[in-house]
Amino acid sequence: MALIVQKYGGTSVGSVERIKNVAKRIAKTRAQGHDVVVVVSAMSGETNRLVALAHEIQAYPDPREMDVVLATGEQVTIGLLAMALQNIGVAAKSYTGWQVAVKTDCAHTKARIESIDDAKMRADLQDGRVVIVAGFQGISSHGDISTLGRGGSDTSAVALAAALKADECQIYTDVDGVYTTDPRVVPEARRMDTITFDEMLELASLGSKVLQIRSVEFAGKYKVRLRVLSSLQEGGEGTLITFEEDENMEQAIVSGIAFDKNQARINVRGVPDKPGIAYQILGAVADANIDVDMIIQNVGNEGTTDFSFTVPRGDYQPTLDLLGNLKNTIGADEISGDDNVCKVSIVGLGMRSHVGVASKMFRALAADNINIQMISTSEIKISVLIDEKYMELATRVLHKEFELDQTKERA
Ligand code: ADP
Ligand code: ASP
Ligand code: MG
Repeated sequence: MALIVQKYGGTSVGSVERIKNVAKRIAKTRAQGHDVVVVVSAMSGETNRLVALAHEIQAYPDPREMDVVLATGEQVTIGLLAMALQNIGVAAKSYTGWQVAVKTDCAHTKARIESIDDAKMRADLQDGRVVIVAGFQGISSHGDISTLGRGGSDTSAVALAAALKADECQIYTDVDGVYTTDPRVVPEARRMDTITFDEMLELASLGSKVLQIRSVEFAGKYKVRLRVLSSLQEGGEGTLITFEEDENMEQAIVSGIAFDKNQARINVRGVPDKPGIAYQILGAVADANIDVDMIIQNVGNEGTTDFSFTVPRGDYQPTLDLLGNLKNTIGADEISGDDNVCKVSIVGLGMRSHVGVASKMFRALAADNINIQMISTSEIKISVLIDEKYMELATRVLHKEFELDQTKERA
């Protein structure tokens, strides 16, 4: 008998019919003799609806109150799922995040889990019940309802699996595993039986929304056995996130492609080229709690220099406003930007030992007339910033160039 945490995403609980279907899956796992803790998301579209409602009232919704609103979506699905399980003779009890309690910091709308109390869940499991926990939410150290950032139910599930020392955490979604890229964009994308933790971490951080980045971080920190599976299909092993690199494993140079529209570019032109100027500009942005991602500094003419960097799209206007106010202090000629950009990245452990991957990527993009605005690299990824209108084309071109539709399974 094992302890399994199963997480069902928005599409998987998107209708009463689907909730009943999820209940049947859980009943099957119970019938195999396993203990089950379930995490659910809100019904698909519900969190977006709640966000829109809040924005109808406040342009910049108060974060504490935003969380009060956002957390309601998951409260509906936990109750409905408990009823559906009871209907088919499976004892079940639902809990909100604060009832468990999932304790978080106070960063409303993007809170981090600090600890989880497993006493209630263990007592219910002991009594033979399925425990259903609302994903995406917790309780802050001030006793307020908090949420974990969009897609945060994945993180709830992995964190619960870590706290309960579960044998496996299964993320059920609307695709049957992790693919070489988003199969909605590239129909030829291929499901992987396994993916290494490092590659999954990069893909998630570079925009693949199949797993929220923090869920992957948690899995790494607590060595949670994590698997992505389909809730809409019967059978299938999905994709297992592995921690060991098998020496004999055939290593693809590039194993996946991610893209991210949540990008905006800021240009600061003609600032004095002197020590401390990068700090003056980027320090001010960091002080405003805005994440800076890619950065380029070019030496310009006559003792001046230019900076370009990227920020999340929602922070585009605030960053322009902030630097506009600082323009005279930092001595800039011009502050400008573009929020119709996106980042496309190739990821693969094999890049560590292969040269020429970057030039292959750049050549393929050039052949399709896609202009690269910025580049950033690490040991196992290369990202380019390009015009948003080429995002899908670039992804398809690179998928083909690196033959991701043809690579053999690695495990
Ligand atoms: P859920 O509501 O179950 O959390 P999400 O919509 O958050 O589901 O995540 C699943 C979606 O992630 C898929 O429908 C797919 O379009 C997208 N996706 C992006 N990149 C990948 C990838 N590499 N592999 C599989 N799915 C991906
Ligand atoms: N319902 C939340 C969202 O849509 C959390 C989740 O689905 O993981 O972002
Ligand atoms: Mg998700």
